[in-house]
Formats: sequence, C-alpha cells, structure tokens
Amino acid sequence: MAACKYCGQSAGWFLDHHNECLSKYNSVLAAVSDGVTQAIKHSDDAALLQLKNLLKSLDRPASMSFSDLCLAAMSDWRRAVDSICYTDQVSLELTEGQILFLIRFFHTLVSWLEPPLPDVQELFRWYSDELTSLGVGDTIRRICLGEGVDGLGKGDPKVDSINYLRGEFPVVAVQNVRLETEQATYVRNYGGPSFRVAPGLYWRMGQSQGQFSTTFVVDAHVGYLILTNMGVYYSNAATTLYVPCAQVLQHKILCPDPSNLAATNAAGLILNLRNGKQVAFLIGSAHQSLCFVKLFFLAAAGQIHAK
Ligand SMILES: [Zn+2]
Repeated sequence: MAACKYCGQSAGWFLDHHNECLSKYNSVLAAVSDGVTQAIKHSDDAALLQLKNLLKSLDRPASMSFSDLCLAAMSDWRRAVDSICYTDQVSLELTEGQILFLIRFFHTLVSWLEPPLPDVQELFRWYSDELTSLGVGDTIRRICLGEGVDGLGKGDPKVDSINYLRGEFPVVAVQNVRLETEQATYVRNYGGPSFRVAPGLYWRMGQSQGQFSTTFVVDAHVGYLILTNMGVYYSNAATTLYVPCAQVLQHKILCPDPSNLAATNAAGLILNLRNGKQVAFLIGSAHQSLCFVKLFFLAAAGQIHAK
C-alpha cells in the first residue's frame, strides 16, 4: 500500500493519492490565486493582511505548510507581473503607487515564510526579472510624465568605476552580458511583436526587416552593461567600451525567438553606429533585455533627465 502524497495516509494499491485529497489541494491553490488577484486589485496594506488571514484559514492538506501557500502566492504574483511586462499593457498603465505596491507585495510574501529562508537572496534572484521590470516600469513611467528619474544607487563598484561625462548619470545596469561583434557574411532575420514604449508610441521589434550579411562572433567573456542618460558602457575581463547615444545611427532588439519572448532565455540590443560598425550585446535574460532596450530608446531620444 502506498501513502497519499497529500495526507500521508494509505491510499491503496498502485495509488499515490486520494481523489478527495487531490481536489482539496487544487481548490486550495485556486483560493490562493483568487486571494492574490484580490490583493492586487485593492493594492493596499489591508488587502495584504486579508490575504494573510485567508492563507492561514485555508483547510490545506497535511503535506502543505503555510510557507508552501506563500510560495504558491509568489508564483501567482509572478504570473500577474509577467502579464503586465510581457504584453502591450506596459507598466505605464500602472500608477507609481501600484508599482510600489507590487514590489512591496513580493517582499511581504517573503517575510511571511516560516521559518525564514536561510538564503533569501536566492529567492530574490529567482524573481529578479519581475522585480527589475517593475523598477524599470516605474522609471519609464516617470520619463513619460516628464519627471526626473533617480540615478542608480551608488555603492556598486561597477557603477562607481565609470568616469561619467558632465551631466551624465547611470540609469540601469544588467549583468551576464556578452559582446557580439560582426565579422563576415551571415543572414539574420529580424521581426517580432510590438511593444508600447510610451503612450501612442509603439515600437515593433526589428522595425526594418532588411537582412544583414554579417557573421557574428560572440565573446566568451561575460560582462556587464550600464545605460546612462547619454550612452552605454560595457565591460568584461577583456574589453571595455563606451558608445555615446550620439554615435548610434540605429538600434534594435536582438531576439532569437520573437514569437515566444516569454520562453526566450536571452535577447539583446543591436547598435548600428555612424561609423558603419555594428555592436550587439547578448543579455542573459529576455526580460532584462526588454527593460534595457526600452530605456535605451528613451535615452537615445534624449528623454532621460535627473530628478
Ligand atoms: Zn489523502
């Protein structure tokens, strides 16, 4: 006789669960999803408290802890944030308060875990795409409203090591970036979904469908890319370069599989320079690429000003 994976009691020959336990499990998960949706709808501290009470009160199977419910709520949170960040319904439609609430919502769920996780940073890394997107969403919202933006926090040696030009300040940094440089002949296809970068301003990925005859060589070194209000700094163990926006003739997103951006685990930015050269940055996360490229678009248009 095998034990039921939900209640631990014997389930019968060749069975690993009771049907009633499975349906209890599914209805608990559905209730968590509903609770998360409601909390996002109300976007206030009272809603968070209400969600906590809901999670405490659910009649959960013996195998599920309260923390399991918090983790389930985090996946629902991720789905909600992804639906904002991967569609045209960009975070511009959210208010500053709603964006801050979504970030606080996640931190609150983490704080409910009992016992606290030994490595909380791991959890933040796991959800870093969503957290970055929300932060960038707020920056884009500010730019579009003509407000000044906060520069990146000082203290990160990579951010601090740059000699910024007068009036220049760092806006966003992404890690795990490889440099791709052109060498000979190769055909690459551009094209893909459109994203709204500002009200009334849609931008189709790979606006020009033209094909480039170039071979790309990807640098083995991984580095980091910092966007400032005036240009892009890149640095890895072997190469350091700075591309001022004024040198960029054309920019586009580099997307291996535009039809399925959510599942694509890398994308990047291609810059065609006024001197005829091309540089491309492969970013290890499609989500972060989008964030970076949207902000680059605004920097190149001279739209990013300090607070
Ligand atoms: Zn059972």
